[in-house]
Amino acid sequence: MNNDEMTAGASKVNGTAVAGISGLTARTVFGTVAAPPGQSFALACDGGLIGAWLSEEREVDGPLLDGTDCILVPGFIDVHIHGSGGADVMDATPESLATISKFLVRHGVTGFYATTVTASHGDTLAAVSNVARFCRHTCSDAGVDSPVGARVLGVHLEGPYISGKFPGAQNPAFVRPPSANEFEELLGAGPVRMITLAPEEEGAQSLIEMALESDVRVVLGHTAATFDEARTAIDAGVSQATHTFNAMKGLHHREPGTVGAVLSDDRIYAQLIADGIHVHPAVMRMLGRCKGPTRTVLISDAIRATGMPEGRYDMGRLPVVVRNGACRLPDGTLAGSVLTLDAALRSFMAATGWPLVQAWPTTSLSQAQAMGIDDEVGRISRGARADLTLLDATAQVVATVVGGRVAFLRDQWRLLGTAD
Ligand SMILES: [Zn+2]
Repeated sequence: MNNDEMTAGASKVNGTAVAGISGLTARTVFGTVAAPPGQSFALACDGGLIGAWLSEEREVDGPLLDGTDCILVPGFIDVHIHGSGGADVMDATPESLATISKFLVRHGVTGFYATTVTASHGDTLAAVSNVARFCRHTCSDAGVDSPVGARVLGVHLEGPYISGKFPGAQNPAFVRPPSANEFEELLGAGPVRMITLAPEEEGAQSLIEMALESDVRVVLGHTAATFDEARTAIDAGVSQATHTFNAMKGLHHREPGTVGAVLSDDRIYAQLIADGIHVHPAVMRMLGRCKGPTRTVLISDAIRATGMPEGRYDMGRLPVVVRNGACRLPDGTLAGSVLTLDAALRSFMAATGWPLVQAWPTTSLSQAQAMGIDDEVGRISRGARADLTLLDATAQVVATVVGGRVAFLRDQWRLLGTAD
């Protein structure tokens, strides 16, 4: 298709369509309680919200996305992602965030939390301020014909207040005790929505209180917390675990550790890097059984090497080598991933044996509930944002719709009614 074939309301950017649509069709819909089977449904174009269910697709007045052979699920949300496509959140440039945002829609992601790494206060502050600038810019300047990417939903601070015993690939040079002053400055600089910390460290408790008062979700991770310490943290309001099993005190049957607390307590959501490298498929299956689909939060933990050729990269000023799909520091420590959320979903389904009807919440609803934004995203209901992902029968991404606009489209023929 050349540019002449798509007119007003639809243009091509980087080979993918950008169009406001008035509706779409799907064979099967998950993520709702009110989907009439085998019917099409309309999106209110205005404001990018989900509209009413319609009985006939011809009732859709305007551009239509044909997904009659597809499965519609809520748009994916990544709460833990450092970078992609050669860009990293720590670059602290709008160009890098734009690169990540455009890359993610190719993999079904409609929203993400820009995740920092353990770094100097100055570098972290720059990254957070950059997210604030980027959000202001993309909200005010997004015209109908401008390219659409995944929305930045906020900042996830991974560290620096973590345990020196479990740094993982976080730069140990910058691991430090909690600082209320630093944290306050970060809160003032941008939309900080979550922080990964080690709850057993001295001073963590007051930082947890401070975070919760500011409506920041507290996530335990890179932690040596015993079972009791982790339970105390959950009692205090910690509600999520960062990449469960990785960089935390493991499970022993007489000292269940951080892992035991996360798996046995329904109050906490469990992030999982489902790439088959960070966690064995059998253990992914155990996590699925313990947490269920609405407490399992699939994450990518992707770094800038994602979507790039294998080779040498960096993360938090540490050198990373990507080989055979694994990212490692020179000493062999795993350093993030080159995973995408659609691949994570397929790998998690393979590990658990769950069909999509069971597994779909692990990429959207769980995240939305964990972050307290499930009235807006993570489900398909009238009035929610039209952030949607169309999958084929093998859970490959066919199309990604952000705010009622097509951000990624695998098959151009599916976009109907745009040329007149
Ligand atoms: Zn990470």
